[in-house]
Amino acid sequence: MVGRPLKKIQCESYTRGSNFTKQCLCKGYFQKTSGKYRCKFHGGFSTGPRSLEGRIKALRNLKFLKNKTEEEIQQWIKNKIKQVSYRKKPSTK
Ligand SMILES: [Zn+2]
Repeated sequence: MVGRPLKKIQCESYTRGSNFTKQCLCKGYFQKTSGKYRCKFHGGFSTGPRSLEGRIKALRNLKFLKNKTEEEIQQWIKNKIKQVSYRKKPSTK
């Protein structure tokens, strides 16, 4: 099929505001994992803060990092990444 479809493909999930009676009206994207169409809000596409500045800004809200300098927080992030990569199994792509 060339171009976009004539009818909008909707997200297949139901909104929480309607107590799960109304369908979400957003544009849906096909998901290979579930085999359903989900929008950007219901699909779990959020990546969280990606840049280092954004991460520091987000981590500043935590109580134990509130009064620390940027360098200390950077060090904390580096240690955390090391721990995570140690736990994860090596992925082959
Ligand atoms: Zn949706």
